[in-house]
Amino acid sequence: MDKLLKERRHRLNEFKDYLGKKPASKHVEIPDGIYTKCPQCEGLVLSSHIKENMYVCPKCGRHMYISGHERLEQLFDNGKYKEYWSSMKTNDPLDFPDYDLKLEKAKKRTGMNDGVIVASGRIGHIKTVVVVMDNHFMMASMGTVAGEKITRAIEYATRKKRPLIIFSSSGGARMQEGIFSLMQMGKTCAALKRHMNAGLLYISYLTHPTTGGVTASFALLGDINIAEPGALIGFAGPRVIESTLRQKLPEGFQRSEFLVEHGFVDLIVERNKSRETLITLLHLHS
Ligand SMILES: [Zn+2]
Repeated sequence: MDKLLKERRHRLNEFKDYLGKKPASKHVEIPDGIYTKCPQCEGLVLSSHIKENMYVCPKCGRHMYISGHERLEQLFDNGKYKEYWSSMKTNDPLDFPDYDLKLEKAKKRTGMNDGVIVASGRIGHIKTVVVVMDNHFMMASMGTVAGEKITRAIEYATRKKRPLIIFSSSGGARMQEGIFSLMQMGKTCAALKRHMNAGLLYISYLTHPTTGGVTASFALLGDINIAEPGALIGFAGPRVIESTLRQKLPEGFQRSEFLVEHGFVDLIVERNKSRETLITLLHLHS
């Protein structure tokens, strides 16, 4: 009998504990999109607050994804710019399996025809050509369209004698376009050389992540190379290097801060200071 009483008492206590904990453990449904979870500090921040803060975590300063068009709006005077060649599409030169399906999915997701936006407008009253890579479109990998648009943007800037700014963010060359992708590295660099020979300014602005054939071509050829804080910038990924060299890489390897220390990048500029920094640089070189 005692045993039974003891067991009942125990269960009753368990139930009281459960009731006591209930409000804390109650699952609260938060509609999608109201809060954004920071991938670095894992803090929950109101999405509207993150947006106002240019997608930089107010708690830890992590620079998160910002769409190409939003970046352009915050960069140009009064958010005004003209976009070029937005309808250009790849013709799938290798007839690569399932490439068309992936493209269709990316188009639906982003409303873009490829991962590169070319724009022109005034920044601090100076007419400037700007390229932004939006990595929500197939990691803004560089295929024939990206290469062609970037080359046209450079040539347009050269012809009009305007400074050029390229915001890079890319997974590298687009493997579905094989050798045609790799050819874009030489093509963009040759156009930049002509821009440079004309005595015109090119600022490269590296954002997270910039890798592969983009790092190995136009992204590190700026007269001034700027990076956003904490951006991963490199050719091959750290895991590939570690397994090839069979060596542990130093801490912070391939991050902006490491690259500034080692002379690959000239300066780190936070997103909320990007416009004023670029205006200063453009005026200094105009
Ligand atoms: Zn954070």
